Amino acid sequence: MKEYRGFMLDSVRHFQSTDEIKKLIDAIALLGFNKFHWHLTDDQGWRFASDRFPRLNTVAAVRPYSDFGKTLIREPYGRLYSKDEMRDIVSYCSGKGIEVIPEIEMPGHTGALLSAFPSLSCGGKKVRIKTHQGVFRDVLCIAREETFETVTALIDEFLEIFPGEFFHIGGDETPPDHWKSCPDCQRKMRELGLEDYSAYQNIFMNRVIDYLAGKGRRAIVWNDSVKGGNLDKRAIIQYWKERDRASVDFINSGGRAILSPFSYCYLDYDYSITPLNRVYSLKPSLRGLTDEGKKNILGLEAPIWTEYIDNDEKLERLLFPRIIAVSKAALGENDGPYEEFLREIKEMRGRLGGYVFEDERRWTKTRLSYAAGWLRFVRDNYTAGYIREQLFGKDYLPGNK
Ligand SMILES: [Zn+2]
Repeated sequence: MKEYRGFMLDSVRHFQSTDEIKKLIDAIALLGFNKFHWHLTDDQGWRFASDRFPRLNTVAAVRPYSDFGKTLIREPYGRLYSKDEMRDIVSYCSGKGIEVIPEIEMPGHTGALLSAFPSLSCGGKKVRIKTHQGVFRDVLCIAREETFETVTALIDEFLEIFPGEFFHIGGDETPPDHWKSCPDCQRKMRELGLEDYSAYQNIFMNRVIDYLAGKGRRAIVWNDSVKGGNLDKRAIIQYWKERDRASVDFINSGGRAILSPFSYCYLDYDYSITPLNRVYSLKPSLRGLTDEGKKNILGLEAPIWTEYIDNDEKLERLLFPRIIAVSKAALGENDGPYEEFLREIKEMRGRLGGYVFEDERRWTKTRLSYAAGWLRFVRDNYTAGYIREQLFGKDYLPGNK
């Protein structure tokens, strides 16, 4: 059994009531998970009620509309979790042996933060909160001292609510486009003698990792950050991008990792793409790991991203029963035959109580369902907004002049 058995919930793209979150906590506790990774900030919203930076509570918390393909919402959409609500979730989890790991995304996926604080962008340009999904060029200007000061002030405010050991600081999907034309970033890179943008990003990440270490916390970053070659080994990488040699090298040379290979663990993918039998075959290891490297795998985590999950029923249907398979893998109890596991699910379903399970006929993979699933994936994910972004370039929004 691995020490880290995690579940991640995205409460940005669509949020959940605290009652629904607690209901999910009940299930994961029963299934043996011990970490709840809470994704609270991203391009499309900011969910942490801040006393220090009240603009986050107004400007960054609400987007004017949501264009996630199938889940199109024409009205403004947003919500904050108050400090009392977040403390309540932390204490509820703690009562069930679960640590809450908050995440502040940086330096990419910061569209909402930048919409409230444009001075943190390269050139201080105005940034709009995002209304569709994708990877956006609006990222923090990491040359500016104000950026580091703001981020660490936010971390301090988060730490007042979240007392756990781990803290997630993102680090994924950060296009360097604006850094390339920013005089501050260019000057900083020259001073550092750097030409590689991933290495430049890590100078910032390492400073934040060091800051957290100074507070007795362990930083987690998505494994995109390994690319720069200079990531602080005190950071734990969350391996989602698969077949990444640099991550394997990082782990073999003493870096720690949590595994969330997306084609097994991302439970927002339809069952036809990530069927239950695939999730059940998950192993807490990677090809190319040495014996030493294998010891550096802390455990597994299953994230669920909510771009097109706008209600609790959809959320539960995607989670159940696949989350049971993740728990078996995390506990190292997935060696038995799949058919036996299917029988176990029925028993477990009775113990869990009132959750919406996906229709049993859709659990297991067939070739036809796989092809149909990818078509559905394209339809759901590559939305009109995403295509507009690709066609019309940066920061396109309907109505932009
Ligand atoms: Zn810059």
